[in-house]
Amino acid sequence: MNKHFPCSPEVALRQGNWVKFICGASNEDLTSISDLCAIYAAAGVNCIDLAPDSAVVAAAREGLDWVETNHGIRPWLMISVTDGKDIHFRKAIFDPKSCPKECKRPCEKTCPTYAITRNNGVREDLCYGCGRCIPVCPLDLIHEKNTVLKIEDFGDLISKVKPDAVEIHTAPGRINAFENSLKSILNSKVDLKRIAVSCGLEINGISQYQLSQELWSRHECLRRYNQKPIWQLDGRPMSSDLGISTGKAAVSLLKKMHSIAPPGPLQLAGGTNAQTINHIVSNSGLAGIAFGGIARKLIQPFLIEAKARNKKLIHWPEGWHRALKVAKGLINPWLSNNYHIN
Ligand code: SF4
Ligand code: SF4
Repeated sequence: MNKHFPCSPEVALRQGNWVKFICGASNEDLTSISDLCAIYAAAGVNCIDLAPDSAVVAAAREGLDWVETNHGIRPWLMISVTDGKDIHFRKAIFDPKSCPKECKRPCEKTCPTYAITRNNGVREDLCYGCGRCIPVCPLDLIHEKNTVLKIEDFGDLISKVKPDAVEIHTAPGRINAFENSLKSILNSKVDLKRIAVSCGLEINGISQYQLSQELWSRHECLRRYNQKPIWQLDGRPMSSDLGISTGKAAVSLLKKMHSIAPPGPLQLAGGTNAQTINHIVSNSGLAGIAFGGIARKLIQPFLIEAKARNKKLIHWPEGWHRALKVAKGLINPWLSNNYHIN
């Protein structure tokens, strides 16, 4: 067996070599979602995390079916929902007709995904809600638009798309909304392998002890409903495009949290990148990692080239092999538990 062949997701969580790909899918078209999920599934991730949208899930499944047929592996499919306001579920919006002609357009210059165009405002398919454009507009014209699925609709969506796992994004003070979300999810009667919980620290401006208390209350709630957790520690969400130092934020959160977090696997996210592994210390209690922006960015050139050839990446063997090599370069150190023990 290939030494990097992924083990089952549950074994990976126990062994500390779990890897999740956060596809999210607010800034890709459906073909790209299918190809991205296929590449990272074939590279060996244990789980693909998707936006709560049945079209997105269908596109991802197409890629995962192809990988199962051709590579004999299939990761879990996870759906992320939120129990309230969350930057992962927002887009920027403004009316371009309100902009003065003489504006130097700092919004356009600051947008990392080129989602802002001169005549059309924000392109929803390219905006991933990072929020950088909002404070730079001198006229305060840019606002947030929530794209949140309502809690009461979770059950219907979950029963329709039947994921293997669900992640609930939560925040301090939202334990009641969390419990309502969980009840709505469980109304689906889908047998879920794990409920992941994502709760940031920097983003919510709280201390590590407050975060620990918040997680313990979620732990008690999950136990009451017989659900097994994954604790996602969000270092610096949506920041992996800002530089390699952001990878340290998640590791520093892990150091603060590993002895005061509730029982269950701890997984890093938020600004994680290829350098994160170099900062992991021994006895960190780490179950694994999630890659989002950096994973998408590495494969983006291949997606663009495939599109120019009018092909899906999975149907362009040369591009597929090159892209797979790049994806494995990010994933393999984690699959082989090749941590630097400091
Ligand atoms: S800067 Fe961020 S929030 Fe603003 S349009 Fe671009 S991606 Fe969206
Ligand atoms: S910075 Fe504000 S005023 Fe200027 S183009 Fe952007 S949205 Fe319009």
